[in-house]
Amino acid sequence: MSSADRSSFDTTAAVSPVGERRGPDAVSRQAEASDRMSHRDDQKEQVREATDIADLVGSYLSLRRQGRNLVGLCPWHEDSRPSLQVNPQRQTFRCWVCNIGGDVFSFLMRMERLEFPEALEQLAARAGIELHSRRGGQSSEKARMQRTLSFAADCFRRCLEASPDAAAAREYLAGRDLSEETIQSAGLGFAPERWDWLIAQASQAGLGPQELLRAGLVVERSDGRGHYDRFRGRVIFPIRDAMGRCIAFGGRVLPAAAADTRRDPPAKYINSPETPLFSKSSTLYGLDVARQAIADARQAIVVEGYTDCLAAWQAGVGETVAVLGTALGPRHAQLLRRYADRIVVVLDGDTAGRRRANEVLDLLLAEPIDLRIARLPAGLDPCDLLTEQGGDAFRAVVDAAVDPLDYRLDEAVEQLPPNASDTACLAAVESVLMAVARASSAVKRHGGDLSQFRLREDQVVARLVRRFGLDRGVLRARIRDLADAGGRNRAGDAAPQQRRPAARESLPPWDREVLEVLVSVPEGAGLVIREVPSDDLGSRFGKAVLEAARQLFDESGRVELTGLFDLLPDPEMQSLLVEVDESAAARKGIAPPERLQQLEDALRLRGVRREAERTSRILKTQSLDADAEAALLEQIVAQRRLAQGMSDPKEG
Ligand SMILES: [Zn+2]
Repeated sequence: MSSADRSSFDTTAAVSPVGERRGPDAVSRQAEASDRMSHRDDQKEQVREATDIADLVGSYLSLRRQGRNLVGLCPWHEDSRPSLQVNPQRQTFRCWVCNIGGDVFSFLMRMERLEFPEALEQLAARAGIELHSRRGGQSSEKARMQRTLSFAADCFRRCLEASPDAAAAREYLAGRDLSEETIQSAGLGFAPERWDWLIAQASQAGLGPQELLRAGLVVERSDGRGHYDRFRGRVIFPIRDAMGRCIAFGGRVLPAAAADTRRDPPAKYINSPETPLFSKSSTLYGLDVARQAIADARQAIVVEGYTDCLAAWQAGVGETVAVLGTALGPRHAQLLRRYADRIVVVLDGDTAGRRRANEVLDLLLAEPIDLRIARLPAGLDPCDLLTEQGGDAFRAVVDAAVDPLDYRLDEAVEQLPPNASDTACLAAVESVLMAVARASSAVKRHGGDLSQFRLREDQVVARLVRRFGLDRGVLRARIRDLADAGGRNRAGDAAPQQRRPAARESLPPWDREVLEVLVSVPEGAGLVIREVPSDDLGSRFGKAVLEAARQLFDESGRVELTGLFDLLPDPEMQSLLVEVDESAAARKGIAPPERLQQLEDALRLRGVRREAERTSRILKTQSLDADAEAALLEQIVAQRRLAQGMSDPKEG
C-alpha cells in the first residue's frame, strides 16, 4: 500500500450527504433471524463455505488491499474514501461510516434488498450448489423471474446459433463485423418473426404465460384473450446485471424488416419493460463483462448502443458499457463510481448527440466524479469509427474528451454566427455562467473538492475573458449571483445533510473483554457462558450477544461468529460484532491461553470486588454492634487487599 493510499484512508473527516437507510425493520429482522435459524442445516454452511466474501463484494465494487483487509467505496453512502472494509480471513465486511457489517448473506441481502431465503438461493446458485426444496420448493418472485429470463435467453441463443429462422440475423451480425467470440460473450440471440414462438417453448418447459408476463417477455392482447411474444423478428441482446445474471432483453429489428414498406416501420430498438429486476436508469449494458477492465483502467467509457459497446470490446477497448435508451443519469454514475474514477461519455457529433450532452451535463455536474465528454466527428457513430478506423482511433477520441464546463463553452461559442450581435454573445456567456454556477453549488452541496473546482472555474472564466473581452470581476460576480439564486430556489428541498460516522453504542471495557474472548477464543466460550451472567454486561449490545452465544452453546456446545450473525441480523449489531472481532485480532502477541487466563483473573477480581461492595453496603446500611462491625471491617480490608494483589501486574 502506498503512503498516499494510507493518508487518503486515514483521513477520518469523511463527510458526505446522508444516504437512504435501508435497514429492515425490527419485525422483519426477527423473521429473518428465525429464517436464518430455521434451516440451520448443512446447506447454509455449505453455501457459506463455497462463497468468498472478497469475491462477492468484489463483483459489486472494486476492492484494493490494505493490510490484512480489502477496502472499497461503500455502496450505501456517498463515499469518497474507501470506508467499506472486507476481511477475507474472517469472511466479514463492515462500513465504519454507515455502521453496518456482517457476512456474505448480510452483504447480499442489503446489496440486492433480499430476504434471507432469496440470498441463500442466489449464493447457492452462484456456487453451483443445488438446494433441497425447502417449504415445498416455494421461492421468491425475483428468483422465479430470474429463471424465466435465463430460460428465454437460452431459447434466443440456441435459435441464433442454429435455426434456419435466424439466417438473416446471422448475416446481419456478420455484416457488422462481430466475431463469434464477441457474439458468445454477449450471449446474443434471435427471436423469430412469430407471435407465440417463446410462449410455445415456455409452455413445453412448464412456464405459463403469467410467468412470461411478469418477466416482461409477453404482452397481454388488448381484447384480454391471451398474450403474444414481445420480441419478434429481432436480434436479442441479453441485458445482465453486474453479477452476469440476465435481467432483461433488448431487441434490434433486422434491416430488412425496417425497410419493409407494406407496414409502419417498427421501432429500431425495444427493451424489456421495467420489472422488479430491471430499471434502465440504474442498469448499464455490458457492465458484467467490462467491470474488471473498468476497475483496472479506473475509467469507464459510456456509449449509446449495444453494438457500439460490442464493437469497442472487440477492438480491445474493454472498459466500455452502454446506456439503455436513456441519458446517463446519477444512478448510473453512482454504479460506475464503485469501479472508476472517471467516466467518459462518448456522444455522436450530430444534434441529437449535442442535446443529450446537455441532458447529461445537467444531471451529472453534481456528481462527485471526473466526468468527460468525448465528441465523435460529425456523421460517425462509435461502431462505424471502430470498424473503419480501429480501437486506437476510438481511444484517441476518448483521450481528447473534455471537461463538461469546457464542453459547454465550446458549444456556446460554436453555435454563435461569425458576426453575432452583442445580445447573442451575452446570452451564450450567460448559458456558460449558469452551468458554472450550477456545478459550483452542486460541488458545495456534495462536499466535493472546492479548490479543484475553482481551478476549473478559473480556466473557463479566463477563456470567456479572452473570447469576449469581458471583465473577469464582472463574470465572477455574475457566477456568485446565479449560484445564490439557485441556492435559494433549492432551499425547499433536502437540506445539505452531512454524513458523519454513525453514532454507535460505545462498548464498556468489560463488555468488550468478554465479547472478544467469545468471538476469538473458541475454548473460552464455555467459561464465559458459565461465569458471566448477562446482567454483568453493561451494554444492550453486550447482553444481546451473550444471550445469543448462550443459545448457540446450548445447541451445539460452541460459539462461532457466523452463528452469532445468524441470530443477530440487525446490521448495527453485526457491524459491532465485526468490529469486536477485528479488535480481538488486532491484539497480536496474546496467545489464546493467555487471553483466557486474563479473563479468568478478571472474573475472579470482579467477584471479589462485588463481595467487597456487598460487605461495605452492609456496613453502611445496617446498625451493627462493635464486634460485628470490626469483623466486617477486617473482611473488607482483606478483600481489598486480595483485589489489590490480583490486579497487580503478575511476575513470572
Ligand atoms: Zn457506508
